[in-house]
Amino acid sequence: MCVMTDCLFCRIVAGEIPATVVSDSDDVMAFRDINPKAPEHILVIPKAHFDTAAAMATVDPLLAGKVVAEAGAIAEKLGFAADGYRLMFNTGANGGQEVLHAHLHILGGRPLGPMLA
Ligand code: IMP
Repeated sequence: MCVMTDCLFCRIVAGEIPATVVSDSDDVMAFRDINPKAPEHILVIPKAHFDTAAAMATVDPLLAGKVVAEAGAIAEKLGFAADGYRLMFNTGANGGQEVLHAHLHILGGRPLGPMLA
């Protein structure tokens, strides 16, 4: 489904790069962040390539909803939803986006404070 061969997350979707997969469906995949910033740090991505979350939501709002809903389902499944968690889409250079494939960070498992730096 994903066709950007030079995109790191497209290559994870294609199975070319290993990942610790948390969930996998037809159009959405989730895996553990390789450099976790919290005890629970999971990335939820659309399998189709979009550079940013806004681009995804503009072209396919249903898919964007699935990504967010899957984050909630994962937090429930892994048992940290009740304590709360943070969902974050970094976007562009000033937003700290390093991988140009839309991805939703789930951060949980500890108190995160009012905002990450
Ligand atoms: P960004 O800064 O919002 O683009 O987040 C990219 C995230 O991808 C960072 O938190 C990285 O630690 C994470 N990351 C980079 N390479 C990999 C990988 O191969 N597997 C899982 N996570 C990765």
